[in-house]
Amino acid sequence: MTQEIKFTDLGLSQPLLQAINDVGYTIPTPVQAQAIPLVLQGGDLLAGAQTGTGKTAGFTLPILHLLSAKPIELKPGRPRCLILVPTRELAAQVEESVKTYGKYLKHTSMVMFGGVGIGPQHARLKKPLDILVATPGRLLDHLGQRTLDLSGVEILVLDEADRMLDMGFIRDIKKILVVLPKQRQNLLFSATFSDEIKELAEGLLHNPGFVSVARRNTASELVEQSVHLVQQSHKRDLMSHLIKHNDWKQVLIFTRTKHGANRLAEKLVKDGIPAAAIHGNKSQSARTKALAEFKNGTLPVLVATDIAARGLDIDQLPQVVNFELPNVPEDYVHRIGRTGRAGSSGAAVSLVDPEELKLLKDIERLIKREIPKVTAEGFVPPTRLEPEAPRPPRPQQQRRPQGAPGRTSNGPSRSSENRNQAPRSPHAGRDPSRQQRQPSALLSKPVSEQSQKNLSEAARHQAMAQTPIFAPAPIHRGNRNK
Ligand code: AMP
Repeated sequence: MTQEIKFTDLGLSQPLLQAINDVGYTIPTPVQAQAIPLVLQGGDLLAGAQTGTGKTAGFTLPILHLLSAKPIELKPGRPRCLILVPTRELAAQVEESVKTYGKYLKHTSMVMFGGVGIGPQHARLKKPLDILVATPGRLLDHLGQRTLDLSGVEILVLDEADRMLDMGFIRDIKKILVVLPKQRQNLLFSATFSDEIKELAEGLLHNPGFVSVARRNTASELVEQSVHLVQQSHKRDLMSHLIKHNDWKQVLIFTRTKHGANRLAEKLVKDGIPAAAIHGNKSQSARTKALAEFKNGTLPVLVATDIAARGLDIDQLPQVVNFELPNVPEDYVHRIGRTGRAGSSGAAVSLVDPEELKLLKDIERLIKREIPKVTAEGFVPPTRLEPEAPRPPRPQQQRRPQGAPGRTSNGPSRSSENRNQAPRSPHAGRDPSRQQRQPSALLSKPVSEQSQKNLSEAARHQAMAQTPIFAPAPIHRGNRNK
């Protein structure tokens, strides 16, 4: 249905259509087709969409349209639109989108996050500003220093609101909401609809329009998934083997801890594979450099914790690896959403040790299919192992914890990053001929009969229609007073 909608049908102005044409988009994604007309009408919006759906253009384009349709005289440090995001990387990417889509308009924008000097931000705030993209912590620093004035905000966007809550930003968000003018347009984007998100939406949105799009590449259509059953102590060697054996050129590996990310990156480098780790303890410049090299293809392996990887806009990532499984099954889907984006196919490999089998079961229950178990051809587990660091305890709960304590002005809080450090999705050998069934000898329990299915059968399963994982209860329109 949305296939037939064109950008020219959405009511966007010519300069925006020209910019869209320049970036080469031909048709709007489902979230764009639905959200853009609603935002242009000026009402509030609740949107279920995650990174990879094209959501950024879904709010950036109509915001640029609305601001340019109603020009006003700007004041220094007093933005008309505030876009709050959970991480520095996402902030930078969103602001880049503002610039890209607004290239034929005269709007000014600024990105604001912690972990970098505040001086240049002070200087920028002395000039007129239309659109501010910020992480909550640094924004509060500026409010405290009175270098920022939010009294002119006409449009507020909470992007990846679920992740902001996971990261403990709810208090910061509430503090920010208090200083915003009451009369404004509110757009809330979230990949999931927990009770906390519903509560936030209830308090924030007035008579909102509602848009929900299935993930473009859920566990189903585009991502070939597989699991290697392997002891924790063999994972680093297996990782090195898989990258070399399959000649992976661009692979994002999720680890559970920052320490684990460092150790893995060091091991890969030692084995002659260029790799870098990104996580909250790395400086912003190191993260930016690693990400840029990874994106332009000069760095083949990026090892990241969940939060560091959140929101990375890397197109058509071919391989993702879960070095460990995430505690929260939904995170697995988020992780494998890093690959197979924008219509390309991708592959996700998970390295699963016996202690993670329960997590694997939870994931398979969520995605309603078994993930094929494969072995790595030619992999001989080392007989002499490096001493293994004690395994950090996993949080007990299977659901995301709520309202993590403390904030940092640098984006993710330390506590949240540690908590969420389960690995993200990966991919294994994409060439089924290179994969064999996994012997169950490595496991404390034998692999279930179903999991012995071969890949072609798995591929058949993957073609089956999926129930959208994201299924929020809609907020009913028309029963709230503005
Ligand atoms: P987002 O979900 O906003 O992070 O966008 C994911 C990726 O999709 C980005 O690299 C965008 O450049 C790309 N994208 C956004 N809209 C479209 C579109 N209509 N057609 C093709 N690619 C798009």
